[in-house]
Amino acid sequence: MNILVINCGSSSLKYQLLNMKDDTVIASGVIERIGEELGIITQRSNPAKWPDTKSTEKLFIRNHEAAMRLMVEKLVGEEWGVIESLKDIDAIGHRVVQGGETFSTPELVDENVIEEIRANIPLAPLHAPNLTGIEIAMELFPHTPQVTVFDTEFHQTIPKKAFMYPIPLNLYKELKIRKYGFHGTSHKYVTKRAATHLGKPMGKTNLITIHLGNGCSMAAVKNGQCADTTMGLTPLAGLMMGTRCGDVDPAILAFIAKHKKMGIEDIDTMLNKKSGLYGICGTNDMRDIHAARENGDANAQLAFEMFAYRVKLFIGAYLAVLGTIDAVVFTAGIGENDAHVRALACKGLEPLGITIDQEKNTLREPGTRTISADDSPISILIVPTNEELEIAKETMALVNG
Ligand code: ADP
Repeated sequence: MNILVINCGSSSLKYQLLNMKDDTVIASGVIERIGEELGIITQRSNPAKWPDTKSTEKLFIRNHEAAMRLMVEKLVGEEWGVIESLKDIDAIGHRVVQGGETFSTPELVDENVIEEIRANIPLAPLHAPNLTGIEIAMELFPHTPQVTVFDTEFHQTIPKKAFMYPIPLNLYKELKIRKYGFHGTSHKYVTKRAATHLGKPMGKTNLITIHLGNGCSMAAVKNGQCADTTMGLTPLAGLMMGTRCGDVDPAILAFIAKHKKMGIEDIDTMLNKKSGLYGICGTNDMRDIHAARENGDANAQLAFEMFAYRVKLFIGAYLAVLGTIDAVVFTAGIGENDAHVRALACKGLEPLGITIDQEKNTLREPGTRTISADDSPISILIVPTNEELEIAKETMALVNG
């Protein structure tokens, strides 16, 4: 069974075609700068089958429909093609960021699902292109089953005392303001993998999962289900991120507005795009931050320490929420690759039963692995995330009934 996973963003379209017989990627592509003067499409094909594994082309891509047609042309076309015809795609899985309170499981796309997704757009207007992608795909692939997988799904088990904000109750009733959480597909995927690695059923596994990429979030997982997470109504909350601030005193917004004469839109942009690691030291790439620290850059050092401190803060909080855990799990770009961040975030947690093995932590190995000391009561794991594979698996499960 071949499954096409589509992630339609505001000016980009990411896609991955997977062969579910052996969970391999047939091709993956990204179309960037949709609607701008010059767009870019890059597609990588399975190197085992196609010797020329990466192709790039620059051209004007008018809108998301043009981008989707371009994707189809590249997947089946003579030049970069990896399949003979669209019939070789058995199902499509769409990543949808905001599922609101409506969706706690993947859904087969139909008119009702489309309307429910539309109704949730006010909660995440920046992610409206998710729906555009679904609608265009329905036209381009009218006979192919299509499934939506929501970033918020895994977090729908969070209890009300944890997802409510202590603001006037009518704001929840009128505007559905509450914690939704994001990166759910990643937290769920690494939870399953960690349970397998630990040799426990998922339903009996308790974890703190830590997704550290450009966006960063953590989840407290109790018996395989999410009990709390750091992101909120939007992905701006919680940990310090590449360019996002994470949790700040909400009174700061009014303070900045008053003293810097900034409008709320500009402040929102600043907190999303100019804050986090970037806001403190001018770069959002952890590799550059380490290079700068080594050259004595005090701001880079501060950004690194602030970043790890907040991870540690939530490990403590979630340990208190869960009582006992089997493992702390690191994933995504920084979580999987950055031994410095992992070491600093876990430093001092030994009395809580979390002891990292410095040697295992710095070994660069692929796949899921344990990096805690042999006598650490709580394991520390690195589990590479794979959101596309998880979406494809959920899609396959639903389509196969
Ligand atoms: P996204 O959230 O966009 O999916 P990723 O999970 O790919 O992001 O993570 C991207 C981030 O991971 C980069 O900004 C970079 O800071 C970090 N990163 C990637 N590789 C390394 C590495 N080898 N060492 C430290 N940090 C890394």
